[in-house]
Amino acid sequence: MFGTIKMAPQEEVDSFDYLPGQFHFIKLYRGKNLPVEEHPFTISSSPTQQGILASTIKTSGDFTTTIQYTMPGDLARVQGPFGRFCYLLHPQKRDMVFIAGGVGITPLMSMLRYMQDAGEDRRVLLFYVNKTRRDIIFHDELHEIEKAGSLNLEVIYVLSRPDTDWGGEIGYLNGKKIQRYCGNGLADKEFYLCGPQQMMRQLIPDLRNLGVPESQIHFEKFFL
Ligand SMILES: Cc1cc2nc3c(=O)[nH]c(=O)nc-3n(C[C@H](O)[C@H](O)[C@H](O)COP(=O)(O)OP(=O)(O)OC[C@H]3O[C@@H](n4cnc5c(N)ncnc54)[C@H](O)[C@@H]3O)c2cc1C
Repeated sequence: MFGTIKMAPQEEVDSFDYLPGQFHFIKLYRGKNLPVEEHPFTISSSPTQQGILASTIKTSGDFTTTIQYTMPGDLARVQGPFGRFCYLLHPQKRDMVFIAGGVGITPLMSMLRYMQDAGEDRRVLLFYVNKTRRDIIFHDELHEIEKAGSLNLEVIYVLSRPDTDWGGEIGYLNGKKIQRYCGNGLADKEFYLCGPQQMMRQLIPDLRNLGVPESQIHFEKFFL
């Protein structure tokens, strides 16, 4: 299960100064005996969206299971932005390959939203890996971005536990599947990865073995 919380400052500001893909620490004050803890979450909105910071949060443990009880009007203390997982920090004009596992889509989604607004013309291939179709976050919005055509985006969904009528990629993502879609020009692309530990442990060495230079492999870890 997942949900998105949107936060606006109590005093009016024109825009927030952050890069797409960065994260912040959020502390929620919601009363009702709900925990007041600070946790890191990606800013899944785009800096082009004025006056709002959004984070999309997946239920994974004690704190995140309480996200569903967050109500309009609850207060949040936000500290940030942090992180360097952002394509704007690597301005080489190479095509990009985004690889997301589960909720690891959030920083990549922020970048895609920003790219669409900024008129980015590079090709972006997104591999989005989930267990089931129901786990796919942002499906409709990704479809809209692909269809609109203002961003040169192609999304490849990969499911490890698909329904019988699933017509897309099945299993886990690996170097072989990536190469099938990218062809031989892997060393000419920038790779951005965010996903579960196991996925990153497999894919980063796969990319190195396929000849992608270290400087073109960028990743964000949601785990220690
Ligand atoms: C830079 C960064 C960005 C992030 N961005 C996002 C984001 O955009 N969206 C998002 O949803 N998350 C994001 N996260 C992860 C998020 O911070 C954590 O999921 C959250 O802090 C977990 O808090 P919790 O108290 O709910 O989980 P905890 O209770 O602390 O559990 C943490 C992990 O341990 C596992 N776990 C808990 N209990 C058990 C158990 N009994 N047995 C086995 N495993 C268990 C859970 O599966 C969970 O993955 C981000 C993390 C970082 C570092």
